[in-house]
Amino acid sequence: MGDKLLSIYETLLAHYGELHWWPARTPYEVMVGAVLTQNTAWSNVEKAIANFGDTLSPETIADANLAELAETIRPAGFFNQKAGYLKAVTAWYAWYGYDVPTVQKEPLGKLRAELLAAKGVGQETADSILLYAFGFPTFVVDAYTVRLCARYPIEAGKGYTAVKTYFESNLPQSADVYNGFHAQIVINAKEHCRKKPVCDGCPLGGTCGR
Ligand code: SF4
Repeated sequence: MGDKLLSIYETLLAHYGELHWWPARTPYEVMVGAVLTQNTAWSNVEKAIANFGDTLSPETIADANLAELAETIRPAGFFNQKAGYLKAVTAWYAWYGYDVPTVQKEPLGKLRAELLAAKGVGQETADSILLYAFGFPTFVVDAYTVRLCARYPIEAGKGYTAVKTYFESNLPQSADVYNGFHAQIVINAKEHCRKKPVCDGCPLGGTCGR
């Protein structure tokens, strides 16, 4: 079964080439994007992040007035809640002095539990922050992953934890592989495995059971 997952990854890799996901300039911008992308399109996140100009930093958000912060991130939707969530993840980051290497010295499980305890942080957000901002080997499960599993099919089980555990158990424990595979799943979902699939030309067409 692990071979199947690896061969899907290798097929996608051969087709799309090396990809790395998360369009952000800094680890903190990854954290902000991971919160803002909840229930909205990435294009809205980009607009919200652009509103910060060159001022996006944990210090700025920690000091920001909540109402003003909400106004800045308005394009991302649910802006009042998300302003509170940004404050919460920033408060978590403050425990580590806003310092990436300090976070990286801590055990993954401990950090994940802390993030999950922060307001507004679910599993996908926590794993996105840990993988993309800090380089921990934790697989991110998103709607595209679930869709691919259902269609191919990949019998990864149901629910976030089951799918994450399945991918992690059947792939090398590597942040690079988790990052790259997720990027491949995302691009293939946009190019082919859309809500209404465009199977013609899909690199997985030869093996997908759909
Ligand atoms: S062949 Fe079709 S259903 Fe299968 S992964 Fe590709 S687009 Fe999705």
